[in-house]
Amino acid sequence: MNTQLKNQTIQIDGSQGEGGGQILRTALSLSMLTGIPFELVNIRAGRKKPGLMRQHLVCVQASQRISNAIVEGAELHSQKLYFQPQQVQTGKYDFQIGSAGSTILVLQTLLPALMMQNEASQITIHGGTHNPMAPTADFIEHCFLPTIQQLGIQVDFECKQAGFFPIGAGQISVTIHPWTEKQKFSVLNKGKLLEINAFAAALNIQPNIADRELDVLKKKLNLTQCKRLNFQGISQGNTAFVVLNYEHHQQVFSALGEMKKSAEKVAHDLAKNVQSYLSIDAVGDEYLADQLLLPLALGQGGEFTAQVISEHTKTQADMIQKFLDCEIGFELIHKMYKVNVKI
Ligand code: AMP
Repeated sequence: MNTQLKNQTIQIDGSQGEGGGQILRTALSLSMLTGIPFELVNIRAGRKKPGLMRQHLVCVQASQRISNAIVEGAELHSQKLYFQPQQVQTGKYDFQIGSAGSTILVLQTLLPALMMQNEASQITIHGGTHNPMAPTADFIEHCFLPTIQQLGIQVDFECKQAGFFPIGAGQISVTIHPWTEKQKFSVLNKGKLLEINAFAAALNIQPNIADRELDVLKKKLNLTQCKRLNFQGISQGNTAFVVLNYEHHQQVFSALGEMKKSAEKVAHDLAKNVQSYLSIDAVGDEYLADQLLLPLALGQGGEFTAQVISEHTKTQADMIQKFLDCEIGFELIHKMYKVNVKI
């Protein structure tokens, strides 16, 4: 692996760049992978409620468990953390977030270290599966995982129970296979649009909310198919998502129902995001762009085009370059960005 063989602790300022939880999660992932300890100060200083929230704490505890790490400062609201990993251990793990915190963000923290091992791991995580400001289970299943599969990364994913704020109580079950064949990734062009499919689910609330969203999506987008999904779970919530199938890429846009926001408005805003993506040639949306950098840096590198380069993506690039010997560049060409990860 291309690690910078620095033995000393890496110092990280959590207020840099985007200043969110991703700095913590990426530091945990990279520390477990490289064995390099880190000290993180000003944790989530850019957020309204700074410090470690429940879901961040679970990321730290789960990382500690799989890497047998020595940890200081792992407490609720803590703004300082020291993390020194030992050997990463594959196996069968069960993590409880104990709130509606995102199961997906815990998974994304553990995935890089576990996929680099020689044996598979089975992980079950309980908590939220459809959270605002995080990838939804549907985004992971139909966009993130199919994209990293092109790099050779094999993950079996199942959302067994959906979990919405505030109850959560969702469950994802995942098998992470060893990454044996690393493929270079070069997808600058998404190719021909093959299908646009829309889905919506309303869990323990009036099912017509999902139908009304699908009606709007049908009117606004040239859909191939649309379908109401029946989610299992004890929380209440609503999501709609659109899967765009291109020759060389599959992109997902998702939206969550909100109090005081009509189903029509939820679907209208979702359709607008899809239309803006349809109008340009870029492959990845703003979210996939930040999530792809680490898998590319751990594999053979690669390149892709992106709709937007967010603060998240820039911060993610800085974090990766702190731990790994690679170069991440962004170039503006014809109203989109070319992202290049050189190792
Ligand atoms: P942070 O705000 O630092 O906790 O990081 C949030 C993570 O969630 C980033 O990796 C974002 O790309 C991702 N994310 C946020 N919203 C979405 C969305 N609607 N779809 C997919 N990923 C998302």
